[in-house]
Amino acid sequence: MEFSIKPIGTIHSCYTEKFGIPRQPGLVKSARGSIEMLPPCDREEMFNELESFSHIWVQFQFHEAVSDGWRPTVRPPWLGGQKRVGLFACRTPHRPNFLGLSVVRHHGLRREKGKLHLDISEQDLLHGTPVFDLKPYVPYSDVVPDASSGFARVTTRKLAVFFIPEAEERCRSYRERTKRNLRALVVEILLQDPRPASQRGSTREYGMLLWDVNIRWRANDEGFTVFAVEGHRG
Ligand code: SAM
Repeated sequence: MEFSIKPIGTIHSCYTEKFGIPRQPGLVKSARGSIEMLPPCDREEMFNELESFSHIWVQFQFHEAVSDGWRPTVRPPWLGGQKRVGLFACRTPHRPNFLGLSVVRHHGLRREKGKLHLDISEQDLLHGTPVFDLKPYVPYSDVVPDASSGFARVTTRKLAVFFIPEAEERCRSYRERTKRNLRALVVEILLQDPRPASQRGSTREYGMLLWDVNIRWRANDEGFTVFAVEGHRG
C-alpha cells in the first residue's frame, strides 16, 4: 500500500543550513521562524482557538536527508558517535519516510504579501522544510512525568561565549536593521556546543549560516569566541 501526502506549509527559519541547528526543539528559545501555509490550508478559520495553546506539534519531512538515504542502525551524537543503536531508538533525520516531529512555541498568525504565516520560536527546523500537519500540544496528556530518556541527555557542561568588539558591533547593526536578535541566537546555539562529538576539544574555526549571515567562531577550554559576523550590509 502506498500513500501520497502533500505539504500543508513550508518553514521559514533562522537556520539556513544544517550545521548549528540544535538536536531538539526547545533548546534554543530565540530560534525564530514561521510556517507559511499553502492552499488549501491558508485560511485563518483553520486556526480558530489555537491562540489558547502556547505550543504545537509540527510534523515535517527532513527534506535535506532524503538524498542520503537511511540505515537500520545509526551512531547517535549523544554517544560520541562510537556506539550504534537501532534507527527506531533514536531521532535521526535518516529514516524510512524521513518524517520529523517537533514541539514549537507559536506566536499567532500574520498575513504578509497575501501569504498566511504562523510565527514560531524554540524550533529546530531548516529553512524550506515541508510541513505535513500541525496539532496543539496538550500538556495534560503529552507530558509524561515518569518517562525515561534513555541515552539522550541535555548538555550539562556550559562554556562561556565571547564576541570580539567588531563582531559585537555587527550583531548590533544587524539587529537595528532587521529587528533580529542575532547575538542572543548565536549565544544560545553555542551553549549547545554544535561541534560533532568527535571534534569536542577541537580548536579549529567553524562557520555557521544564520539567516543571511555567516558566523565564524572557534572554541577553547574557556569557551567560544565569535570573531566574525559576515555577509550583510553594515
Ligand atoms: N525534533 C525532530 C525530531 O525528533 O523528529 C528533529 C530531531 S533531529 C535529531 C534534529 C536535526 O535535524 C537538526 O540538528 C538538523 O540538523 C536536522 N534537520 C532539521 N531540519 C531538517 C531538514 N529539513 N532536512 C534535514 N535535516 C534537518
